[in-house]
Amino acid sequence: MIRDIPLSQAITVPLQKAQIDSFDQTLASHGIPCLTANTISSIQINVGKLCNQTCHHCHVDAGPQRTEIMTIETMEMVLTALKRYPQITTVDITGGAPEMNPHFEYFVAECRKLNRTVIDRCNLTVFFVKGKGHLPKFLAEHHVEIIASLPCYLEDNVDEQRGKGVFDRSITALQQLNALGYGMEGSHLHLHLVYNPLGPNLPPAQMELEDDYKKELRTRFGISFNNLYTITNMPIRRFLDELEANGQTDQYLELLVNSFNPKSLQGLMCRSLISIGWDGVLYDCDFNQMLNLTTQAPSPATISNFDLSTLEHRPIVTGTHCYGCTAGSGSSCGGSLA
Ligand code: SF4
Ligand code: SF4
Repeated sequence: MIRDIPLSQAITVPLQKAQIDSFDQTLASHGIPCLTANTISSIQINVGKLCNQTCHHCHVDAGPQRTEIMTIETMEMVLTALKRYPQITTVDITGGAPEMNPHFEYFVAECRKLNRTVIDRCNLTVFFVKGKGHLPKFLAEHHVEIIASLPCYLEDNVDEQRGKGVFDRSITALQQLNALGYGMEGSHLHLHLVYNPLGPNLPPAQMELEDDYKKELRTRFGISFNNLYTITNMPIRRFLDELEANGQTDQYLELLVNSFNPKSLQGLMCRSLISIGWDGVLYDCDFNQMLNLTTQAPSPATISNFDLSTLEHRPIVTGTHCYGCTAGSGSSCGGSLA
């Protein structure tokens, strides 16, 4: 049985039987004919679906058996695009466990040589995979920002969602990162944590939950970090399978639709980034990537013909899953929006 965070109550909106309008209809009712991108300052690269974990809620369906891995040739094309477009200042690397890609360190080092901010979306336990013990030092030496998953500060909850023993290994990893300066006051090495709900609820208020996390992790384990990002579970892939198995899909979608917040629209991550799949195909975001919804023409379809001028201000492909980004306080790869 999953217990949720005891100190901050998850937001539960009274459920009415929702008429689930298409996301575009909802946008239109708020005077927005079509969701479009702004300028692009960031690329988010999924370097593969291989992961040392198999979490219940994973929207990538990642795991140890996945074979999809970005090749070095595709990475070189990304580096060429970065050289051509200095206005792309951030390279956000995700997976799977991105560090499981055999070219991860080469790619990080090359991006840093190009003076880009590099983010590693890290599951923490990858540091304990054979041959990966040097990663904390490598990340610190290359000034890589770490965004690490820790869906609770309670062992039972983390292990329930992410696998037995994950909590203990995550705590040890965070202590190692702190020892290198990550997340410490005055340090330029940034360490952020990610919370996502354990069940079909919206996240609690980000600031209050961050206070709870900081207090609990410092008191019990001496751990420091910079910010907590709350992220809503998207009703796709493994989390959708879980909803279906529990007969909770309609209830969760109604919660998302009833909680639509127009204030979240301006900050939606698809408006300022481009997502690149392991095979070089372009998407509006990582969620669209997992649903095989590629960018729309006339936008270029792959990294081999990357042209920023056609990607900026492009129409964004939307669907029912987009309600996951606009519910409550909103949700993005950088936490809540509104
Ligand atoms: S949620 Fe992250 S750590 Fe868990 S299986 Fe998916 S990619 Fe791996
Ligand atoms: S899922 Fe979210 S980020 Fe992706 S296109 Fe929809 S609103 Fe944008």
